[in-house]
Amino acid sequence: MIRIAIVGAAGRMGQALVRCSRMMPDLQVVAAVDAATCPLCGKDAGLIAGVGDIGITISHDLPAAVKAADVLIDFSFHENVPLTIKLAAEQRKAVIIGTTGLNPDERAAVDQGARMIPIVWAPNMSLGVNMLFSLVQQAAKALGLDYDVEITEAHHRYKKDAPSGTALRLGENVAEGRGQNFRDVAIYGREGLGGERPRGQIGIHALRAADIIGDHTVLFATDGERVEISHRATSRDAFAKGALRAAQWAGGRAPGLYDMQDVLGLKK
Ligand code: NAD
Repeated sequence: MIRIAIVGAAGRMGQALVRCSRMMPDLQVVAAVDAATCPLCGKDAGLIAGVGDIGITISHDLPAAVKAADVLIDFSFHENVPLTIKLAAEQRKAVIIGTTGLNPDERAAVDQGARMIPIVWAPNMSLGVNMLFSLVQQAAKALGLDYDVEITEAHHRYKKDAPSGTALRLGENVAEGRGQNFRDVAIYGREGLGGERPRGQIGIHALRAADIIGDHTVLFATDGERVEISHRATSRDAFAKGALRAAQWAGGRAPGLYDMQDVLGLKK
C-alpha cells in the first residue's frame, strides 16, 4: 500500500485526486493539506470531494502530512512548492508536483530537491497530453521552418497563470524538434505595429473563459495547407489519474527529476 498526502486538497485538482484515488486499491490517502486560510480546513476531504466521509480531515499541518505519507502530491500554489519539497527532502519522501506557474527561484528549489529525492514534475499529467508532446516534436522536426507554428490554449476563468505550463512545454517541443532555442523565438500574444511575422517564430496565445478544463492546439501552417494537433481535457480526472500513476511509479525510485514521459515509458 502506498500512502499519499495531497497538498491543495480542497482545490479543484485536490478533490479530483481524492475521488480518483478511490479507484486505485494500492493507494491510500493518509493526509489532506490546504492553506491555513482555506475555509474548508477541518472538514473531511472525502466529503468535500463528493465521495463521502473518508476519515481524513483537511488540515494545514504540512510537516505532519509529510511524516505520514510515502509520496506527496502537490497541486496547490506555486509559492508553496519550495516548502513541500524542503519538508519532503528532509524526510526522503517522493513528491509529485502538478502545480504550475513556478518562478525561476521555485524552479531552482525543484532542481535542488531532486538531488535528494525522486520528484515527478509535469505541467500536464494527462496521458493524452504527454502523447501530444511527442507528436508535436515529431511534426516540428519533419515539417521544419517552412511551417509557421502558433499555439493556443484555453482554460477556465479561475486559472491564475498564463500561458499554461503545457503551452510552454509544447513550445519547447516545437523548438527542440526544429533545433531552435525556445526563448529566442517565442512571442506571447501580439498587439500593435509588430511588423511582419519572422520565419521560425512560435506564437503562444492564452484564452480564459467559463469552465474550460484545458484545451491546447498546435497549428502548423504553410502556404496552401494547415495541420492542427489538438488535445481537449473534458474532466480533471485525466490529470488526477496521471498524478496518481506517477505516485505509484515514484515510490522507491532513485533521487532525480522525472516527468510524465518517464512515468509513462515514452522517453526514448
Ligand atoms: P485551485 O485554486 O482550485 O486549488 C488550489 C488549492 O491549493 C486551493 O484549495 C488552495 O487553498 C490551496 N493552497 C494555496 N496555497 C496553499 C498552501 N500554501 N498550502 C497548501 N494548499 C494551498 O487550483 P487547481 O485548479 O486545483 O490547480 C492547482 C494547481 O495545479 C495550479 O497551479 C494549476 O495550474 C495546476 N494544474 C496542473 C495540472 C497538471 O496536470 N499538472 C492540471 C490541472 C491543474
